[in-house]
Amino acid sequence: FYADVALAAGTSISLPEQTARHVQVLRLQPGERITLFNGRGDTEGEFDATVERMGRSDVDVTIGAWTATAREAARTIHLVVGMPANDRMDWLIEKATELGAASIQPVMSERSVLRLKAERADKKVAHWRGIAIASSEQCGRNRVPLIHDVATLGEWLKKSTAETGAAASNGMRLLLSLQDGSRPLAEAVASTALASFTFLNGPEGGLSPAEEAAALACGFSPVTLGPRVLRAETAPLAALATLLCY
Ligand code: SAM
Repeated sequence: FYADVALAAGTSISLPEQTARHVQVLRLQPGERITLFNGRGDTEGEFDATVERMGRSDVDVTIGAWTATAREAARTIHLVVGMPANDRMDWLIEKATELGAASIQPVMSERSVLRLKAERADKKVAHWRGIAIASSEQCGRNRVPLIHDVATLGEWLKKSTAETGAAASNGMRLLLSLQDGSRPLAEAVASTALASFTFLNGPEGGLSPAEEAAALACGFSPVTLGPRVLRAETAPLAALATLLCY
């Protein structure tokens, strides 16, 4: 279970509300053992804990030993995705978490079907963060991928390029593209010793030629996943799966 709270061996705590709700769904009994993680600290790991009391809406536990447990992917992989509409983005977040994405940046671009005003965007992001937590719990990750606030593609390109100075210093930037001349992804990955990758993926309607040009100017190289048109949620997941093979 993910608990967004400081955890220390030998202490007793009341679980945060959301975690308590999850534990109660399972109808655990006092004395039963659970595993807690909070993703804090430099080393990946998780705590053993024992349920002491199940209240009506709260759960008390005693925290036991901490065990270093590495479950992250060997490469650090960031996704910048033109959000697919409906529940396809939920699905993308769930699967990208299982496959080991370190972060997901949802972006609105010229041809995005999903257009979110600030308040709705905040609700959506909170919903997606919940999915990333649930998916981390399900697959045993003890780091929850970072789900960034929604930005426009233009804003994100400007900010991320300014932050990294030379665009390429933040690892390899790869544009998932259907354009002729794109290099096969496997070939691009095999030819580098870099440990960090950022994938940019278009929405349902793809990126406009101007957006692709802007990405290239910010250090992205175009790569292909083959001659079929993959859906906006399939392409980043295929890219993630490919990286797990290296
Ligand atoms: N008609 C759109 C176009 O021509 O760009 C199709 C967009 S596709 C449904 C959504 C996104 O998935 C694309 O913008 C691209 O980033 C990625 N994509 C889909 N198929 C791909 C492939 N075979 N190789 C690389 N990226 C792909």
